[in-house]
Amino acid sequence: MIPSLEELHQIGAAQQPTYPDQAAVDAAVARLRTLPPLVFAGECDELKDKIAAASRGEAFILQGGDCAETFVDATADNTRNKLRVLLQMAVVLTYAASVPVVKIGRLAGQYAKPRSSDTETRDGVTLPAYRGDAVNGYDFTPESRIPDPQRLLEVYHASASTLNLVRAFTTGGYADLRQVHAWNSEFVRSSPVGARYEAMGKEIDRALTFMKAIGADPDEFHRVDFYSSHEALLMEYEHALTRIDSRTDDPYNVSGHFVWIGERTRQLDGAHVEYFRHIRNPIGCKLGPTATADDALALARKLNPDNEPGRLTFITRFGAGKIRDGLPSLVEKVTAEGVDVAWICDPMHGNTFEASNGYKTRRFEDVLDEVQGFFDVHRSLGTVPAGILVENTGDDVTEIIGGGEELSEQGLAHRYESVVDPRLNRVQSLEMAFLVAEMLRKS
Ligand code: PEP
Ligand code: MN
Repeated sequence: MIPSLEELHQIGAAQQPTYPDQAAVDAAVARLRTLPPLVFAGECDELKDKIAAASRGEAFILQGGDCAETFVDATADNTRNKLRVLLQMAVVLTYAASVPVVKIGRLAGQYAKPRSSDTETRDGVTLPAYRGDAVNGYDFTPESRIPDPQRLLEVYHASASTLNLVRAFTTGGYADLRQVHAWNSEFVRSSPVGARYEAMGKEIDRALTFMKAIGADPDEFHRVDFYSSHEALLMEYEHALTRIDSRTDDPYNVSGHFVWIGERTRQLDGAHVEYFRHIRNPIGCKLGPTATADDALALARKLNPDNEPGRLTFITRFGAGKIRDGLPSLVEKVTAEGVDVAWICDPMHGNTFEASNGYKTRRFEDVLDEVQGFFDVHRSLGTVPAGILVENTGDDVTEIIGGGEELSEQGLAHRYESVVDPRLNRVQSLEMAFLVAEMLRKS
């Protein structure tokens, strides 16, 4: 039986907002409990099978999207651009490395953020930290920073409209493989990586024409399976969107296909682990440089006691300088104990720093180096690198330095839009896909 919300709060949940009005929280939760599921249990099971395949090396997981979605940016254009760059990356990985790619968006629910500090100070003024649109407003005013439970309902509605659009795009012709060129807009095409993509697109066209000529035109050419994911951080929201599957009587989180536990909320005896233990979705758990092999093992035993393949993904985020030394002991121990997990590399969160002009950024080269380290570790241990998690966007933002366009620290000011962590822009995302495809081919 899934614990009640009250029980979870008694256990103690880290990183929760302090709402000023409990009656308003109760009303929002009660309303959320009546709303229809955003995803279906059967879809979650299907994704679990695909993650299991990736953990055996028979597929590769590409998880990507915003660090933090915002309500104002939940527009059709934004959703299409995000989807487009993920589809482009997936095509590059599929074609260049000849493996099926499991596509998971950090979208339709990625609205709540853990913060390292409860407060933010600007010019001597201290206010509560921004915790994502699910909690409070980004504007630096006392009113905007007050946690408002009505926002939980807005998360639901924004997620529903995003997911509706994603479903329409991925099954209604937009994701048709014959669109590979159409996804490559003028601006990308004019870059070296865009030209490389264009050349690959021509080869894919030729292959498709050949397949058609011999009478093969399977459904897979015309639609893709695309899944949603987010960090399940806020107990009120996640608990209210947990439902019992009528087929099996098992609880599922129906706000996203894949949900994960963040680095700051993975305490073995904390409320998040307790909640996640009960739901049947495929789940992730971040592991940073402070995680020991025993921590990893204990988490796996608690979160996946039946050792079900595809159920648990460890998303490691060590940082480029630490992964080669830090990751092996975890993988070794977990593997030696016969524990079934998928290992994914998040090369973003261990590589964040503040540029001299104050922007939070990452170096493209560090991001790539962490992925290379991840592949190296798994190759040397004979284990499987099952995928990557990136923070990226379909737009031409300037948030991460380096890459083929050699974005400099000064260049960050040009178009820095993220409200939390810096994201790979479209060109950097494509470059990354080609580079990761090479690593994958050799692994
Ligand atoms: C994130 O994925 O945006 C995040 C906050 O990561 P982590 O929990 O690994 O710090
Ligand atoms: Mn982030």
